[in-house]
Amino acid sequence: MLEFDKLVNIHEWCSDRRKEGLSIGFVPTMGALHQGHMSLIKIARKNCDIVISSIFVNPTQFNVASDYEKYPITIEEDSLMLKEEGCDAVFIPPVLEIYPESDTYDLDVDLGYIGECMEASKRPGHFEGVMQVVKRLLEIVTPDVLYLGRKDYQQFRVVGKMVETYNLPVKVEQCPIVREDDGLAMSSRNRRLSPEARQAATSLSMSLAAIVDGWQQHDPHHLTQKYTQKLNEHHLIDVEYLDIVDNETLRPINDWNETENAIVCVAAYVGGIRLIDNATIY
Ligand code: AMP
Repeated sequence: MLEFDKLVNIHEWCSDRRKEGLSIGFVPTMGALHQGHMSLIKIARKNCDIVISSIFVNPTQFNVASDYEKYPITIEEDSLMLKEEGCDAVFIPPVLEIYPESDTYDLDVDLGYIGECMEASKRPGHFEGVMQVVKRLLEIVTPDVLYLGRKDYQQFRVVGKMVETYNLPVKVEQCPIVREDDGLAMSSRNRRLSPEARQAATSLSMSLAAIVDGWQQHDPHHLTQKYTQKLNEHHLIDVEYLDIVDNETLRPINDWNETENAIVCVAAYVGGIRLIDNATIY
């Protein structure tokens, strides 16, 4: 597996592969890799000639400085995992390579409601940072297909909108959520959970599963109230939102008749670590 840290070098390498007629699949990450990330690499491997990943903890998408500073960094293990999964090249740039000081990277994307609700409302500026970095990376890597995890469902929708707005020549594919055996959605942040918080964190996916199983018996409001309260009863859990929304508009649903496709999304602090998860209801 090739490793690049300079954008000119990876850009040139990718251009050469494209000239050879090879298709490129791209999996951007912030590192501290786990089997969730690896599932994206596997899907890219199956569908594209060349698989490229990136490891870049993007400072512009963190609205809390300490969260950025504490983000786990495990570059050596990450590289090994990518290599073993058959990734062809990884891009691990320093911050100045992505954001040279001479340039500005403000984007103009009208996200509408998907840029106001849930993650956007709790993490101001987060999606602006995500769009910035993904646009930069797409211009550098020029992939045919961008693989994103459904774990970050709102992010998938936001990036899709950015790609559409700038008419970028890339297909955006969503990949299923990979979970631990007890249901907890895999996340780089899980390794920061204390043993007690790790145990408590399983309640998030269990609540989502209970909603998916029992939605027909209750209205959406009843379910969100009930499970928010239930989760908050645990002394280590503090729910930021638990919303049942339309999967297109991300608007909360008051009545099941309002949507053809409902999903439930949750964000909560568990022992001080912020986790997100979601599940399709129907
Ligand atoms: P991150 O390193 O957290 O920025 O994630 C990089 C990519 O991996 C994003 O597209 C995430 O949605 C995806 N991802 C993270 N965790 C999971 C998971 N448990 N299952 C599937 N995809 C995931």
